[in-house]
Amino acid sequence: MATLLPHVNSVKEKALQTFAEKFGEQAAVCVYAPGRVNLIGEHTDYNDGFVLPMALPMVTVIVGKSHNGKKTRILSLSDVVGNINEFEFEAGSRADIKPGEPKWANYIKGCIANFICDVPAFNAVIVSTVPAGAGLSSSAALEVATYTFLETLSGKKPEKPELKALACQKAEHNFAGVPCGIMDQFISTMGKEGYALLLDCRDLITKQIPMLHLNNYIFLITNSNTPHKLSSSAYCERRDCCYEAAKILGKKSLRDANMNDILALISQNASESIVKKARHVITEIQRTLNAAVALEKNDFQQFGRLMNESHDSLRDDYEVSSKELDSLVSAAREVDGVLGSRLTGAGFGGCTVTLLRKDAVDKTIQHMKAKYSGTPTFYIATPSGGAREIS
Ligand code: ADP
Ligand code: MG
Repeated sequence: MATLLPHVNSVKEKALQTFAEKFGEQAAVCVYAPGRVNLIGEHTDYNDGFVLPMALPMVTVIVGKSHNGKKTRILSLSDVVGNINEFEFEAGSRADIKPGEPKWANYIKGCIANFICDVPAFNAVIVSTVPAGAGLSSSAALEVATYTFLETLSGKKPEKPELKALACQKAEHNFAGVPCGIMDQFISTMGKEGYALLLDCRDLITKQIPMLHLNNYIFLITNSNTPHKLSSSAYCERRDCCYEAAKILGKKSLRDANMNDILALISQNASESIVKKARHVITEIQRTLNAAVALEKNDFQQFGRLMNESHDSLRDDYEVSSKELDSLVSAAREVDGVLGSRLTGAGFGGCTVTLLRKDAVDKTIQHMKAKYSGTPTFYIATPSGGAREIS
């Protein structure tokens, strides 16, 4: 069976109750932001390419209230925070906020520091159903939930949602020290129920792609429960290969390259690694565009084929899969009713995403469990809405 996700309302209730017990009053503000799954378009973001994520029903809820005191106090009920599940700091000018310990608090401090105005001191409680470190973007859910909380608290919003996503990304870069792309914050901010989001990472133009006719089909997320450990050196190595390939070709980025350029790289004696990394990126950008078209036409068979090709390219050319992810993907593909399966996220662990017929879910889960050496967790992924205030 897939894990049953608690409804947002029950997550909210838990947060409100904890807040009342901890701070002795009722919270006045209540918001959430979702995690996400990327359906296709992996390692394309830093090559000015396209990505196609959707927001998940897994959410990070923040409840809280401002007060006249000097200290902001925040408590997270997440397992990921370890022993120090609470922190406090002096509220005041946002320019004075600095990253520090505990590390998880830096995502929140970064959002406060990058908000559009100073905010008063507040107390808050965070409860999340997004598994942390699984590649479903608990970090962006936390940032975007924090930013949404600040918007509600202050009554001020940036002019465009893009600016909110960018401020959250900046928080992750400068406070958490993670050089992430922009996809996660965009989808957590702009997700729309029943839609995936096609994002052009070159100019940040977005297009909502309807998935309202999934009908008999569904996306299944499988957490390998091996943390996604794409070390920063492995990540940088691949990124540098892409930049080098673009440089050899005399292009600004691999977004401007096509399959003929692969031949050009070979004829210019580029290393095998550069050729393979470029080939993944160039084909993946095209696959992502084709996948968006397939989705718009309700051509799920084609969408599934593109997912399979994406995984194979990530495994063979980009070399970011793992034996666990490969084993889950192969097992899924063996089941009648599965249209496509691939790793999702940066790779080396984390989750897979599978498109399949609804009536094949149980037997697919059983087969994947039987074939996998570890203990996977399964979630049904319905295309959900972006961050918002909950009344
Ligand atoms: P992912 O975004 O794929 O889940 P990351 O490594 O980018 O993985 O982000 C996980 C980190 O984000 C955690 O280690 C923790 O520091 C922080 N985080 C995420 N959710 C929460 C939460 N609910 N409470 C506290 N920290 C959180
Ligand atoms: Mg993250």
